[in-house]
Amino acid sequence: MERVGRVSVFLLCVALTLFIFSFCVTSVNAGTTTDRPQWMDSSIAKLKGELVSKSGEAQRERVARGLDQVAQFWRSEDGRAEEFETFVRGNFAGDQATLDAMFDRFEALLEQIDGHMLEVSLACRRQSDLDLGPIMPFDEVFAGWDPSAHVLDDFFQNKLAFIALLNFPLTTLEQRLNEGDKWTRRQWAEVRLAQRFSKRIPAEVNQAIAQAGAVSDQYISEYNVWMHHLLNDKGERLFPAKLRLLSHWNLRDELKAQYANAEGGLERQKMIQLVMERIVDQTIPDVVIDNPHVDWNPFTNEVSRAAVEDSDELAPPDMKISNAREPDTRYRILLENFLAVKKVDPYSPTAPTHIARRFDEDREIPEERVREMFEQILTSPLVPKIAALIGERLGRPLEPFDIWYNGFRPQSKQTGAELDQIVRKRYPTADAYDKDMPNLLTALGFSKDRALYLADNIIVEPARGSGHAWGAGMREARSRLRTRVGKDGMDYKGFNIAVHEMGHNVEQTISLNNVDHTLLQGVPNTAFTEAIAFLFQANDLKLLGLQSADPKSEAMKVLNDFWGTYEISGVALIDMALWHWMYDHPNAKPAELKEATIQISKDIWNKYYATVFNKKDVALLGVYSHIIHSFLYLPDYPLGHLIALQIEEQVKKGGTVGSEVERMTVLGNVTPDVWMKNATGRPVGAEAMLAATERSLEELAKAKK
Ligand SMILES: [Zn+2]
Repeated sequence: MERVGRVSVFLLCVALTLFIFSFCVTSVNAGTTTDRPQWMDSSIAKLKGELVSKSGEAQRERVARGLDQVAQFWRSEDGRAEEFETFVRGNFAGDQATLDAMFDRFEALLEQIDGHMLEVSLACRRQSDLDLGPIMPFDEVFAGWDPSAHVLDDFFQNKLAFIALLNFPLTTLEQRLNEGDKWTRRQWAEVRLAQRFSKRIPAEVNQAIAQAGAVSDQYISEYNVWMHHLLNDKGERLFPAKLRLLSHWNLRDELKAQYANAEGGLERQKMIQLVMERIVDQTIPDVVIDNPHVDWNPFTNEVSRAAVEDSDELAPPDMKISNAREPDTRYRILLENFLAVKKVDPYSPTAPTHIARRFDEDREIPEERVREMFEQILTSPLVPKIAALIGERLGRPLEPFDIWYNGFRPQSKQTGAELDQIVRKRYPTADAYDKDMPNLLTALGFSKDRALYLADNIIVEPARGSGHAWGAGMREARSRLRTRVGKDGMDYKGFNIAVHEMGHNVEQTISLNNVDHTLLQGVPNTAFTEAIAFLFQANDLKLLGLQSADPKSEAMKVLNDFWGTYEISGVALIDMALWHWMYDHPNAKPAELKEATIQISKDIWNKYYATVFNKKDVALLGVYSHIIHSFLYLPDYPLGHLIALQIEEQVKKGGTVGSEVERMTVLGNVTPDVWMKNATGRPVGAEAMLAATERSLEELAKAKK
């Protein structure tokens, strides 16, 4: 989803999979919250003796582990002692041939289940995800329905989950971190298989999360600002007619694009900053949101009936024009998401918060280690050096919005408008992009056959929101590349995003279709798929035939990456602090959460940015839409930049994007450090970026002399 105008390589996108919140919950060795039946211990003692004497002494450890794992989840409603014993006797795989057959069947069928569930879900979300006209109330109900919500429940009920738990190992994060690089591929696949059943979350909880997610997605995807209707103090319109920008992505990207506007850019950037701040503190008038029928002066906050019309729709006859502020809806939505995922806590005893599940399970890097990596960047002595360079290049003191400075990007010779024209001509429709994909992939270094194969496995569709990539869940299905295509064709922003999303889709396709075990489908965590998407996105101008690499532009790119990581690391820390705040204040009201967000945003600004920008108490970074609708996803972006840089350095050494992405993505879903050591020889860390940035500063200094 994450997923637009991105004139920037820091396009924040969300690569989606169905399993994040539902079926494929990864977890450490979870127990259950229910009481253990009284007969359990004596049944286990009896079965241990029986199974070991039947299967042999070599199976003793597996027998004990399997019985223990089943007992952790067995509730009285699952059956009495006799049923438990019959179940265990009938389903323990005591020899390798039986175990192999069981493993193969689970692997093949889970792929089918995941894949088909996802296809059903995407069909139901089609109207709300794609740019296909109005969303009716029933469309929202379809979009909010998660067909996989009951699968895990069903698997406990029909005891398939218990069969997996009886035969395959649950592991702790510690084991995966300490022992994982010695495991065989089959062992890893068995670990991932068992992990699917490491929680027993009621279906209604998963359903509540899916519903809250759908509501917040829609709130964010319709949060547009009609820029031609912003007035300055002289009553002037600074932005062109019909320019409708989605918060925060398009607002930020327009702000970036204005660096190229030497005459009026600064005034426009200041206006955009103000709009963003009013979104954060909710002083934005409710009536201006996604409404082309009112004019708004964000400085005075005055609202009036639009003096010019630039939309095709008529103003609703009952439209009330007032500057009554948005009633903290932003924070109500965030709270509802929080309360929905918090319902999982009692069913996840070893990762009892959403925060722990995100870090220990989804990312498989402990939160503390992630925070340390971000702080290494935020407090680096390289920051003031780069800030001074930016000030020098801008010829003025830095403003807070220069956190989005994009001037290190090797400047193309074309203006934004020219780029738009080039892209529109090339891609008048989503279909035109679709047809060109084999050429784009070949240009990135994929072989001709593979480019055709990959393109064949990716469907391009016009997104309603900012664009996103949905991976498939089974090998016979295809992944979806969604991007915004205007009536006049795809613009440069849309192209930039499409290339980013295409990176996700390529990763998704290879790591599903070409990995040795579908149980290891995917990447260690979303930061890795973002890293690969960034790798593609960084080549967008090259793909348009507009730019070739040279040492100076390489150095500029690294500084651009560093500055983006510096920016998004702070945003990620806000996201992390907010989730801790919500856990500390579970009964908070939206207004209180708003105040907390403003305060946390300012605190983090004051700690890491205020001296660099020479301004205190700025809440601007709280504008990110992900904070509201992405369930603590933001830390994946700075991690993604760090990981991306590690991978990029490897690509420079190893060959083309195509050949290295092919090699790396077949590793699949192992822990981040195992993946990274295989891919580059080193674990995940900030060191590669810091070293590359220092080199790049030296390179630029040399070039100056
Ligand atoms: Zn992305």
